[in-house]
Amino acid sequence: METFDVVIVGAGPAGGHCARLLAEAGVQILLVERSPDFAINSFSSAGTPLETLQTYRLPDSVVGSFWQKLVVVSSHNTGKWESQQPLGAVLDFTKLREFLADTVRQAGGDVWMGCQYLRHVYEEQSLMVTLKSRSQPAEVTVKTKILVDATGPARAVMYARERDKPPFISGTGLEYLIEVDVECYQTHANALTFLLGHKWIPKGYSWVFPMEPNRLKVGAGALRLKHTIVSEEVPLKRSIELLLHDYLKPQTYKILDIHGATLRYCSQLQDVYYRDRVVAIGDAVSTVNFLGGEGIRHAMHSATIAAHHIQRHLNHQTSDFQAYQREMYAVFRTQWNLSERMGIKKYLQDTDELVDRFVSYLQPLSLEDVVDILFFYKFGKTRKGLGPYLQRKLTAVWNLLYQGLHKQELHK
Ligand SMILES: Cc1cc2nc3c(=O)[nH]c(=O)nc-3n(C[C@H](O)[C@H](O)[C@H](O)COP(=O)(O)OP(=O)(O)OC[C@H]3O[C@@H](n4cnc5c(N)ncnc54)[C@H](O)[C@@H]3O)c2cc1C
Repeated sequence: METFDVVIVGAGPAGGHCARLLAEAGVQILLVERSPDFAINSFSSAGTPLETLQTYRLPDSVVGSFWQKLVVVSSHNTGKWESQQPLGAVLDFTKLREFLADTVRQAGGDVWMGCQYLRHVYEEQSLMVTLKSRSQPAEVTVKTKILVDATGPARAVMYARERDKPPFISGTGLEYLIEVDVECYQTHANALTFLLGHKWIPKGYSWVFPMEPNRLKVGAGALRLKHTIVSEEVPLKRSIELLLHDYLKPQTYKILDIHGATLRYCSQLQDVYYRDRVVAIGDAVSTVNFLGGEGIRHAMHSATIAAHHIQRHLNHQTSDFQAYQREMYAVFRTQWNLSERMGIKKYLQDTDELVDRFVSYLQPLSLEDVVDILFFYKFGKTRKGLGPYLQRKLTAVWNLLYQGLHKQELHK
């Protein structure tokens, strides 16, 4: 029977990065992924700020395109911002995960693709993990000291049965990779475009992200809950068609791929972070940000934190993973709980007029400030050094976002 120090189930950004860090530290790793090929489940739009590349040592080869413009379109308003420098990247989600898996192999770890986790049991000091490979008829059992659940919304390791899982708030995203005419591509190259508001998509947002020349990702994502004002259920496909025909208006386009996935977020971060020697990371503990739906760098951040605590456990410096959960809460809890409340308000309760007003308040700000607000929520920082006019605008953005939330929540 094969024996490892750590078995990580799920080779998404969280599992791939955690496996990479541990393998680089000399830990005996097995990374298991049920998909036989990363191109099959390339569901993520993978837009991210530039810091992701530096913080997680990602090469340009995983980048589909860089962005230095931001466009926010509401039902009756448009905000456009541009910087002289690239501020972020749209990653190629297939290449990102291939890169992480390759670095695991290069550092001496094992990666088993097309291999599904089935169950685990404890046997004295070890965990016995049963897996099913697509290429072999029989189940395989491996032995490990620590098992990591990096299966994202499936949380397949932490919960043996569906009925044991806590209730989740679900959001589904659907995306087309399309090839467009040169003129259409040039208009949207280097820009992340978000469409909000009741006209475009009442319970979420739709988007246009650039990839390599003449290719765009167009998508729509919405919460699976009722809107307090809009009663009509709009299928995601219809929102994408609306975006294509009323906003993008390409002369020609060809659909190259259709993909999507459902994210499952546990309200107030009530996920189980560890159970004995099983540790959960990434979207398995709701690291995706509820407001923006951005999750790659946060999943990788959780992987970094977990890798540190796993090494401490392997070195007998700690007997459980309480400190891991504490650190995760310190990093995520306050901001994530606030984002959840803001997201519910923005996507399920706000009038269309409020969404329009939000865009008009953002308009006079610089791209760097808008990125700080939308990606990093840095209101305090951007207020410094601004004239009274911009300070008033920022205060208005702040009030609009937080209107209706209780004061004590902001100070938790
Ligand atoms: C449509 C859409 C668009 C998005 N756009 C963005 C974006 O622009 N920017 C951004 O930062 N984030 C985006 N996200 C969110 C981001 O992709 C996720 O937050 C991120 O992928 C989470 O990483 P993870 O490793 O925790 O989980 P995942 O990426 O979900 O990886 C989990 C892996 O586990 C595997 N797995 C599951 N069960 C088993 C099993 N039993 N055995 C073996 N393997 C298993 C799965 O196949 C999968 O590969 C988007 C999400 C969606 C759905």
